[in-house]
Amino acid sequence: MTTFSRRILRPATLLLLLPLASATSTKLYRPAAPLQGAQPDPQVLAQFGLYNSPKLQAYITQQGKRMTAISDRPGDYGFTIVDSPVINAFATPDGHVYFTRGIMAYFNDEAQFTGVLGHELGHITAQHGKKQQRNSILSSILVGVATIASPNLLGRIAQPAAQLVSLKYSRGDENEADQLGVKYSTKVGYDASHMANFFQTLERTEAQSGSSTPTFLSTHPNSADRYQRVKQLAAQAQQSLGKRTLTVNRDSYLRSIEGLPFGDDPRQGFVESSVFYHPDLKFRFPIPSGWKSQNSPEQFQMSEPNGKALLAFLGVGGSSLEEAAQTLAKKIGITPGNAQRTTINGFPALVFEGDQQASQDQQSTPAHVQAYIIQDGKSMFAFVGLATAATFGTYAPQFASAAQGYQRLTEASKLNRQAERVHIKQAKTAATLSQALTANGVPSKRLEEEAILNGMQLTDRLPAGMLFKVIGQ
Ligand SMILES: [Zn+2]
Repeated sequence: MTTFSRRILRPATLLLLLPLASATSTKLYRPAAPLQGAQPDPQVLAQFGLYNSPKLQAYITQQGKRMTAISDRPGDYGFTIVDSPVINAFATPDGHVYFTRGIMAYFNDEAQFTGVLGHELGHITAQHGKKQQRNSILSSILVGVATIASPNLLGRIAQPAAQLVSLKYSRGDENEADQLGVKYSTKVGYDASHMANFFQTLERTEAQSGSSTPTFLSTHPNSADRYQRVKQLAAQAQQSLGKRTLTVNRDSYLRSIEGLPFGDDPRQGFVESSVFYHPDLKFRFPIPSGWKSQNSPEQFQMSEPNGKALLAFLGVGGSSLEEAAQTLAKKIGITPGNAQRTTINGFPALVFEGDQQASQDQQSTPAHVQAYIIQDGKSMFAFVGLATAATFGTYAPQFASAAQGYQRLTEASKLNRQAERVHIKQAKTAATLSQALTANGVPSKRLEEEAILNGMQLTDRLPAGMLFKVIGQ
């Protein structure tokens, strides 16, 4: 799950997802053109949301611009932190580098951050992206976005998600990006050997989680000798500098991420026992039993395990149910029929059906659609169920029970759910990391997770006064 923010109310954004589904790219990478990646891509923001911290955004922009200036290919690049708990960083070939708030939580000093920044900038300056169309890179970053506006929806959702992960740099490109990361971070004055340490942290997180979400190591393949290689490159780069002191900035980095949300943010919606809860928007509804779900700022999407049916929940614009229905029908490309007014748990609602037009794409199957629009105060929400005409009857009852289960969220325990956060603590006396974490209330089952977060072993000793991270409310 990623996020489902208040921006669900924004009506126009669904269209942004449309071009992703089509294989035809309009923006091919042109090496000769000046790179113009200053602004974040609307599709990336639609999927993840912007991480709302002007201070941290300003920090990475400042570091990014400083490194861009000494790089092999200066340009008007941009740097953005997206609101995702996944541990990843990626670059689009037009010159924009994205960090997730998840990866920001896992860096343990500025030298580690700067090394990864240099690595991503290296993918841009060495033009690794030119081998892939912009859209194919984006669609692999945005894996799982099902684009309900797409006529070839069923073709897409029928594919296992893994097949959509086409963004994977070659080992050769990775080695070159590592080399450039070392070069650039050394050039701006940081100790690049810390980048190698961070790759070890990444390996430990991968080993611990069974997540299928693309993370740094799945999109930037690791080589067996990566750690040694980066250490060596760093030593060589530092030798050529002579005796200059290299920056690490552990304490200042850690202080800068105090309070950073950690993991999923339940304020933006969360799933528990097959129910979707949205504390900020104060509603809940059931998810069809056994279905998979995925949350994004644009929509909450539920899919039948084999991809044979999809149910999307999203915000729609309009001041009346009829107007919202027209807007939605237009966006998903159907002519609405059988429209009927109804009431769902006290909320005025409208139900209609239609068929998506067949597309020119040979592989696509036209979908039959049933939509429920619900008026909740000034907001209009839609449940959009899709299946092929032949199987629609099988899934219609599941679409109906989710939509008809929409109700006001009143349980305090769900309404008050808060995200966990990274807190920076100081060791009062010399102690092992295990002792220091335990003294700060970390339960034993989470000790290893927090050791990885700290880039340390539980048996490592902290001198008095040393800073370390603790996850808490
Ligand atoms: Zn890479």
